[in-house]
Amino acid sequence: RPGPEESGVAVIGLGRFGWHVSQSLTALGYDVLAVDENPRIVQRWSDQLSRVVQADATDEKALRQLGLTDFGRVVVAIGASVEASVLVVLALAELGVPEIWARATSEKHAKILDAVGADHVVFPEAATGERVAHLIVSKMLDFIEFDEDFAIAKVRAPQALQGRPIGEIAISDRYGVVVVGAKQPGQKFRYTSPDTVLVPGSVLIVEGTISQVQRFAEMT
Ligand code: ADP
Repeated sequence: RPGPEESGVAVIGLGRFGWHVSQSLTALGYDVLAVDENPRIVQRWSDQLSRVVQADATDEKALRQLGLTDFGRVVVAIGASVEASVLVVLALAELGVPEIWARATSEKHAKILDAVGADHVVFPEAATGERVAHLIVSKMLDFIEFDEDFAIAKVRAPQALQGRPIGEIAISDRYGVVVVGAKQPGQKFRYTSPDTVLVPGSVLIVEGTISQVQRFAEMT
């Protein structure tokens, strides 16, 4: 039977990244245990998060005392000190934490984290930098890319598609993308149907390869 902490998440390192992860998990309804070695940081967030404790997370004994062994998921959000981040992941792996998420700040850091036992490595600066680069040079309003080439994007409805039911336009044959949702001016996103009629100001969610989606966004 899972213990009470099984569904909780511990976050180690309350810098900018760790704080945002902790805050978002809290908003999602998860019980977060946040750990930082710096007493000033602990003090700063203690009334914003339900449980913030001061400890050096490279210390296996301290981790055990905090009950970290009972957590199903632990996030190592330390970025600036590669050494601390690696030692914490190693300690968590040795304690047998089932799911270790670790933040990398470089490709090499990512490789080391993987080698010492992180189950998931995230590299927020690289991921966000790449995303923002795409948004700067394309007309996509937002997008997510999966693996090498598949993407889902938010784009303005091209003028050529406005004014008649989209079922009459054969969008996927012509443009290679599939329109999955539309937001009409002043409304929320809804799934599209063949009867959906786009108007100026309609915004779409489309999926396809990144180049197809980008080309489609350029038509607006
Ligand atoms: P960001 O770039 O997200 O602001 P930083 O890497 O600057 O992140 O911050 C990492 C946080 O992790 C700091 O608040 C620091 O005090 C904390 N930290 C660093 N080493 C340890 C450790 N061994 N145990 C617990 N917390 C640590």
